[in-house]
Amino acid sequence: MGNEERWVQPALEMPKRRDILAIVLIILPWTLLITVWHQSTIAPLLAVHKDEGSDGRPDLGQGSDLKEYCSSDRDIVEVVRTEYVYTRPPPWSDNLPTIHVITPTYSRPVQKAELTRLSNTLLHVPNLHWILVEDSQRRTPLVTRMLRETGLNYTHLNVETPRNYKLRGDMRDPRIPRGTMQRNLALRWLRETFNKNNSEPGIVYFADDDNTYSLELFEEMRTTRKVSVWPVAFVGGLRYESPKVNAVGKVYGWKTVFDPHRPFAIDMAGFAVNLRLILQRSQAYFKLRGVKGGYQESSLLRELVTLNDLEPKAANCTKILVWHTRTEKPVLVNEGKKGFTDPNVEI
Ligand code: UDP
Ligand code: MN
Repeated sequence: MGNEERWVQPALEMPKRRDILAIVLIILPWTLLITVWHQSTIAPLLAVHKDEGSDGRPDLGQGSDLKEYCSSDRDIVEVVRTEYVYTRPPPWSDNLPTIHVITPTYSRPVQKAELTRLSNTLLHVPNLHWILVEDSQRRTPLVTRMLRETGLNYTHLNVETPRNYKLRGDMRDPRIPRGTMQRNLALRWLRETFNKNNSEPGIVYFADDDNTYSLELFEEMRTTRKVSVWPVAFVGGLRYESPKVNAVGKVYGWKTVFDPHRPFAIDMAGFAVNLRLILQRSQAYFKLRGVKGGYQESSLLRELVTLNDLEPKAANCTKILVWHTRTEKPVLVNEGKKGFTDPNVEI
């Protein structure tokens, strides 16, 4: 027993020093790597925090001076939870064209839910300007407050659709130009705001408040030279409706069940226009009167382009990046029951 110990111990001790050296040599680079990785992951969040209070746009090149923000892990958690989530300025770059998103909206039980969902999407899109146009006599406190709190770059307008247009017939009567006056007001605003000859590069997109938009869609439309087009899901009586694209990437028709012979058989959510073209064709608006259902889009597009000019996006119109969804009016079971819920709570 005693002999064994004497033999074993030196044998154990000799490789131990070498082992320690080897372990140190293995662990040291890994520790360095993990430290660098951790700091670069958290850096953009801290850069945003640091930028706050300047012009609301983060300088994307910043974030190297970490010391004053990295005093402890607790600080980082606080930044992420309270500042980053609620008041994060939207991403901005000096090299990208601005996307002007035009959204008509009107008061109804699901309005706040729809606008919350849409603004959460738009907050992820760099260089975005939201033109929200209320179908109302006045700009409402609900929308005013929501816009102020999102942190988005926005313009808040309003115009009320005359009652004789709005209330005629059934809710789904195609003759009722839902949101059309609002979109036209936004077009006028763009023409009055930007110079025809030398405006900043921009793209115009009509995004209704009830649809679902992927983030990829906004990057697809950003390179629009005249008018770009792509498929839209759940319209025209189909799972999706799409421009037909030939082998050389030209649009030559429309995959749709509902009236495929329209000049532009496309949904409002299925195209974007270069701002320059909107400014040059200053008389181009959506027609208000005498437009058959499904012809709104054509009434504007025929003033701007021909079929030959269209630029197919979304992998030659093979990918679905936008869904024409709608939220039905919720069933309000307790509506009218006094004292059941607080009428002063904004929903
Ligand atoms: N809208 C509006 N006033 C109305 C009805 C609709 O401003 O009286 C807006 C609505 O918020 C949406 C767009 O116009 O952004 C299209 O309306 P809707 O989604 O009801 O039309 P659909 O998609 O069913 O054609
Ligand atoms: Mn809709």
